[in-house]
Amino acid sequence: MEKKFVLDTMLEKLARWLRIIGYDVIFNPKMELIELIQIANYQNRIFVTRRRYLPMDVTINNLYKLMSENFEEQFRDVVEKFGLDIKSGIFTRCTDCNEIVVKVEKESVKDRVPEMSWQGFQEFYECPKCKKVFWKGAHYKNTIRKLEKIMR
Ligand SMILES: [Zn+2]
Repeated sequence: MEKKFVLDTMLEKLARWLRIIGYDVIFNPKMELIELIQIANYQNRIFVTRRRYLPMDVTINNLYKLMSENFEEQFRDVVEKFGLDIKSGIFTRCTDCNEIVVKVEKESVKDRVPEMSWQGFQEFYECPKCKKVFWKGAHYKNTIRKLEKIMR
């Protein structure tokens, strides 16, 4: 998971899916372009954009320009370009906060997940920031199926 990214403001879906496969992605639509570029430079992250024109007077250390407007093509493009691993880190990061989720005691999430899921699963994870709970239910299988479809 060594590659880290900053995604430009219009790339929300791509940002979420890179987090789904476990990558560290800064995405914040409230930030100005210049702030995003500064963070990317300072934290040694790859700045990914779909903009055709970027300010001439700003240095971007690691820039990757997407050609496609289509999300699936963008995802495939980034995965292939940077040799990302789409399997090992899947579901290890909160898609909202970018935080790494931590395994928690089953008992501690009893009131926060549907009874059926609580009964049916043994492993639960929690985002340390937003406290959202994750488990490898139907959503997990659908996600893997979607990834396979995109990468085919
Ligand atoms: Zn979170």
